[in-house]
Amino acid sequence: MAQVRRRRPWIAAVLGFIFTGVGHIYLRRWLRGAAWFMAALASSFFVPEAAVEATTQAATTAFTNPQAAQSMTLPIKELLPIYAVITASIIDAYIIAKMNNQLVEEIEQGVRRCPSCAKKIDDSVNFCQWCGTDLDDDLTL
Ligand SMILES: [Zn+2]
Repeated sequence: MAQVRRRRPWIAAVLGFIFTGVGHIYLRRWLRGAAWFMAALASSFFVPEAAVEATTQAATTAFTNPQAAQSMTLPIKELLPIYAVITASIIDAYIIAKMNNQLVEEIEQGVRRCPSCAKKIDDSVNFCQWCGTDLDDDLTL
């Protein structure tokens, strides 16, 4: 827990929106980001092949011929499983960034937490008033 830095939740959300998992990479949560990417990939198995093809075609057209792409419609309903996973990953990245910043604030304010139960501990005691853990060895947290 040595290097905790403030991260902007909206940046994590926007990055996650652009590409699933990248918001988590910004938050240095590599494995979680990879897991969300795999989840988004896996969710595409629940989408009918025709819908995947239509989407790929629409995306390609958007790059090559933007005007023609405007008249194309995406199979929104069929793509819902993917949207659901992507939305969840964006919310997850946002919440992690928020929690991360809360932790940074606590460290800046010198808040001590019990290593065994994670509850806030009073500065003047050397044991956890919640679970009784002896904190003598953990003062250099
Ligand atoms: Zn405790």
